[in-house]
Amino acid sequence: MIKPGLKIGIVLTLILVLPSLFFSAYEISNLSKNEAVIDSIYTGQLESILFSLNQYSDDVLSGWANRLERETEDANTLLSKNYSIDAIGIKDINDFKLYAKEKVPEDSLANLHSTLELDFAANLNKIELLQRYVKSGYRKIEALSNSLPGKSLFAFALQKDTLSVKTVLLLVDTDKFISENMGPKIQSVAQERFYISVFKNESEEVYANQIQSGEDKNITQKKDIWLFPDYQLGIQMRGNTIEDLVRERTRTNIILLIVMDIILLLGAWFVYKNVRKQIRLNQLKTDFISNVSHEIRTPLALINMYSETLEMGRIPTEEKKMEYYKVINTEANRLSRMVNKILNFSRIERGKREYHFTNTNLNAEIENIIANYQQHFDQNGFEIELQLADQIPDIKLDKEAVAEAIINLIDNGMKYSAEVKKIEVSTCLDGDLVRVDVKDYGIGIEKKDQPLVFDKFYRVTTGNLAHKAKGSGIGLSIVKHIMEAHHGKVELASDFGKGSCFSLLFPVK
Ligand code: ADP
Repeated sequence: MIKPGLKIGIVLTLILVLPSLFFSAYEISNLSKNEAVIDSIYTGQLESILFSLNQYSDDVLSGWANRLERETEDANTLLSKNYSIDAIGIKDINDFKLYAKEKVPEDSLANLHSTLELDFAANLNKIELLQRYVKSGYRKIEALSNSLPGKSLFAFALQKDTLSVKTVLLLVDTDKFISENMGPKIQSVAQERFYISVFKNESEEVYANQIQSGEDKNITQKKDIWLFPDYQLGIQMRGNTIEDLVRERTRTNIILLIVMDIILLLGAWFVYKNVRKQIRLNQLKTDFISNVSHEIRTPLALINMYSETLEMGRIPTEEKKMEYYKVINTEANRLSRMVNKILNFSRIERGKREYHFTNTNLNAEIENIIANYQQHFDQNGFEIELQLADQIPDIKLDKEAVAEAIINLIDNGMKYSAEVKKIEVSTCLDGDLVRVDVKDYGIGIEKKDQPLVFDKFYRVTTGNLAHKAKGSGIGLSIVKHIMEAHHGKVELASDFGKGSCFSLLFPVK
């Protein structure tokens, strides 16, 4: 059969501990999944911002192309309005017209002319393709390879009538395009929320939106700029990135889960301990009832037997009669002590025990107690040795309760002594405490039982004499309660097999 303590342990584990541990493990594994999902959403959003910037640059270029498509003569206006366009070339079979910024000197214009001619020839394949596209109604702008450092060359084809197809070349200063044309857009997209930078060859930052100095940025998310193959756009959220926030939240959640689990485990452990204690207490209570019944039955049986014998008048001598009366008297006393003990215990349990304190000299009180019970000691063959301190101050105590405590201790000393039938009762002043020691030379108490003997209903059940001696298991718990009511305490020093000494410590004040 499963022990009740084990049963409650299993039940608690099944209904509390396991589900919560399972839940925590599930949550923790889910948290990292969530982190990955949020992370990909975040990355996707940043990518779409970069996409829109790329799209915008394309639109700028398309806008220029549209104007030139409408009116090629607009090239000069376009040049004057757009700082980043260095030159516009319009080429057909016979002619190559070059528009450049006004300040360009004649000879360098001629130079530029021939350079672009060369670039045109180098990209002929691409250009022919563009011309074919435009004939079928689709105008495409294409970046061409070019020999001018820091510049980008774009081309698109233009069809004015069914016969002639022109090619337009746009020579753009890359850095100027980035700062003049893309810059304002980057600023407006980034606002205060993002860092957006343009990099050349992955690492060289050529443009960045304005940020306060001292801010750390570590841009890892980059995308190529469609128009300029060597350039990249990079983006990062300002302040706490979503990744940081998600990581922070995950960490907080994990800590909370762990704290919750610890509290839960402690709670389960606490409930388990308590229930186990209650179960043990119940077991002890059952033992108590059987012990008490037993203790009451023995004197009752004796009283019954001796009084019946007396009643029947079968006792020949007066002496024998006196002996019988004595037994009846002793057993009746024992019974009444037992009943008083149980009543007092029950008052304590209900919190109804009252104490009446008076200024008392403990030495005198102890002498009194011993004198009252002398007969009881003699009958059991016990010698009580008194060693009272010369002078101890009077203390406030409830005489009846203290007498009960001392008698309980002496009674125990007698019950748990075998060969040496001697109990020493002594008093002394110990600092600001008055101390009463009750020492016996009996069976002693094992170390493991010492802290438990003051618990209600607790009895030592191992050892021959301890096992046989009758008792209820409430005597020492009453002593403890009485001492607490006096703001004092009871202490135990015991040598297993040699004897025990119980000490009552009363504060002087
Ligand atoms: P009981 O009625 O069983 O004596 P107590 O509360 O007075 O109940 O004592 C609790 C237990 O402590 C006893 O059952 C006994 O095992 C142990 N005990 C108490 N006093 C002594 C003593 N003087 N010597 C040895 N064991 C003792």
